[in-house]
Amino acid sequence: MKIAIYPGSFDPITKGHLDILKTAAGIFDKVIIAVAKNSEKHGFLPIETRVELIKKSVEELDNVEVDSFDGLTINYANKKGATVLIRGLRAVSDFEYEMQLSQANSALDPDVKTVFLTTKPKYNFISSSTIREIFINAGDISKFVPEPVFEYLSKEYKVQQ
Ligand code: ADP
Repeated sequence: MKIAIYPGSFDPITKGHLDILKTAAGIFDKVIIAVAKNSEKHGFLPIETRVELIKKSVEELDNVEVDSFDGLTINYANKKGATVLIRGLRAVSDFEYEMQLSQANSALDPDVKTVFLTTKPKYNFISSSTIREIFINAGDISKFVPEPVFEYLSKEYKVQQ
């Protein structure tokens, strides 16, 4: 059984993330999408909320599990019996960081391989930070995030649309 981890901040999950996840779910037996509790990043939504929103957004994907984790991604992958890490690439600007990250992970555990995926072009520019920026400035984010995220943000944060 080939298990892959898709780690990230998912603050919040976007249609770009979902597209990557669906592709990965079609390739691997099981994909665990896991929210990293990254101490260096100041979050927008609490970890539990991000996990809940992902769960609601992936209901129709049978071989996808949703989780969160502390510490090194490699240790989490080993704990889960995963041999693949999924990361997404948008533009050249992602490349240097993602390359460094995958090489660091590979140095820590050469048996865990990073697989890079891309989205459909229409989702390519979407990032959680862009979504947050549009949302807090009262722009329409409905095209860029899964329905549960849109509903949650519209309800919880009374931004004048
Ligand atoms: P992190 O803080 O770990 O970068 P993110 O939630 O921002 O977490 O992203 C998780 C992964 O998904 C990263 O590899 C990122 O490059 C990728 N990703 C995010 N949005 C897109 C997108 N629109 N297209 C392709 N990959 C994406």
